[in-house]
Amino acid sequence: MREAIMRIKNSKARKIRSSYILEVSCAHCKGFIATYQKVGAGGLVKMYNERIIEGAIDFSQSPGAIFCPGCGERIATKYTTKPDRQEAYRLVPSAFNKRRIAPKKGS
Ligand SMILES: [Zn+2]
Repeated sequence: MREAIMRIKNSKARKIRSSYILEVSCAHCKGFIATYQKVGAGGLVKMYNERIIEGAIDFSQSPGAIFCPGCGERIATKYTTKPDRQEAYRLVPSAFNKRRIAPKKGS
């Protein structure tokens, strides 16, 4: 049996207005990576740390990269956006899948 991957709440997350929620998973093993508050249309190129609600890794520790806990594949690398100097993760385009999910009740 496959072990359940933990979902760790990101203490850096803050509510983003007029956003919708994406679940990002590993393209290789389909394991859960993160839930993310996406704003606007267009593809998912990067994830701002403060918009990550929860993750399979602890984003409040600002990891230097995202590796899939299931298979070890690199999903994204941390960088600082310009010009707003936000902590974000640049996604490897072929390494992840995303799907839109409904927000949880009470959140
Ligand atoms: Zn994986």
